[in-house]
Amino acid sequence: MFSRKVVENLKNSSAIRAMFEEGARLKKEFGEANVFDFSLGNPDPPPPEGTIAALEDLVANPPPGIHGYMNNAGYADVRAKIAERLAGKSGVPLTQENIVMTCGAGGGLNVVLKALLDPGDEVIIFSPFFVEYKFYTENHGGRIVVVPTEEGSFLPDLDALERGISPRTKAVILNTPNNPTGVVYPAELLAGMEDVLQKKGREYGRVIYLVSDEPYRDIVYDGVEAPEVLRIFQNALVGYSFSKSLSLPGERIGYVAASSRIEDCATLCEALAFTNRTLGFVNAPSLFQRLVGRSLDAKVDVGIYRERRDLLYGHLVKLGFSCVKPGGAFYLFPKSPLPDTAAFKQMALKHKIILVPGNGFGCPGYFRLAYCVGIETIKNSLQAFTALAKEAGL
Ligand code: PLP
Repeated sequence: MFSRKVVENLKNSSAIRAMFEEGARLKKEFGEANVFDFSLGNPDPPPPEGTIAALEDLVANPPPGIHGYMNNAGYADVRAKIAERLAGKSGVPLTQENIVMTCGAGGGLNVVLKALLDPGDEVIIFSPFFVEYKFYTENHGGRIVVVPTEEGSFLPDLDALERGISPRTKAVILNTPNNPTGVVYPAELLAGMEDVLQKKGREYGRVIYLVSDEPYRDIVYDGVEAPEVLRIFQNALVGYSFSKSLSLPGERIGYVAASSRIEDCATLCEALAFTNRTLGFVNAPSLFQRLVGRSLDAKVDVGIYRERRDLLYGHLVKLGFSCVKPGGAFYLFPKSPLPDTAAFKQMALKHKIILVPGNGFGCPGYFRLAYCVGIETIKNSLQAFTALAKEAGL
């Protein structure tokens, strides 16, 4: 028989995929243009022109050894460039030794959790949360402890955080700009969070690491700035991904930065390179390490996403949906007008709208719309949302 645990997880883990499959079925039946699929966070804009040009140049003029293995942590010169930038922005001294190139944010989180967790250690996550955090934590013998955010704002509640910390807490995972809410946490709130982690760490005589999952750090709107986690938290590990900022999710490239302010950071960084190797990643893809090393200033035009956010958010609010205006990422997380979110999802399907119920994100009563789809899809969906709102009694 297969792993009982995995078979059990299969049953509970597939809400987003299930909606994606449903969308594919509806598109086959009714035509691509008549189905409004907001299920997946797969960026629609192409990578920036400069990134494509750099990729073409790499293929035409490959550096020596481009398809070979390298240090498990990645190419030293690429890591040095990243370290220099992060040090400049955060004021925390960093060198290439603090950086490990990873297979996206997902790979990076697994590398970090493998390096940090002993069996039975607890990892705090805030709900609503990115579904995979539970599986990533359990991959390495840990257990998640879910701490709810504040109703209405989706900001972490520091008292609730303090109550959630136990003598087994090893790490807190933070995700801002947030999936699924689009909320960007203010720096002052995070400074308060650092006080809580330090206080509880002293009380229990152990370090509580702050793991910041930042694939959306460069997708922010209206002058909002993603907070500098390395500056705020002493024991910070930051996981970044180029999946969203360069529209390269299938290429699996990102990095982890470990703060030099962590005690015995050198051993931790060795552990990160080791877990990158022994989890079987070995190293991040060579070609794409080289590419991002040449593309650190590039990012997709955030204006593309802002236009989509404004159109969809503006329409939903006009219809009477209650929704926090996202400061970043490319998701809306409105309140379901029906108490039963599954019933609302089915009602939306009748209007060919594919959404994901909040239950999978640990937040029933809400639903997620990923607006990283073409602007035409959003424009064409507005009438369907109007009809849906009417049927739902808004
Ligand atoms: N973390 C969050 C919050 C995400 O939304 C995603 C992808 O959607 C990931 C991690 C994984 O990203 P990557 O493609 O870099 O592994």
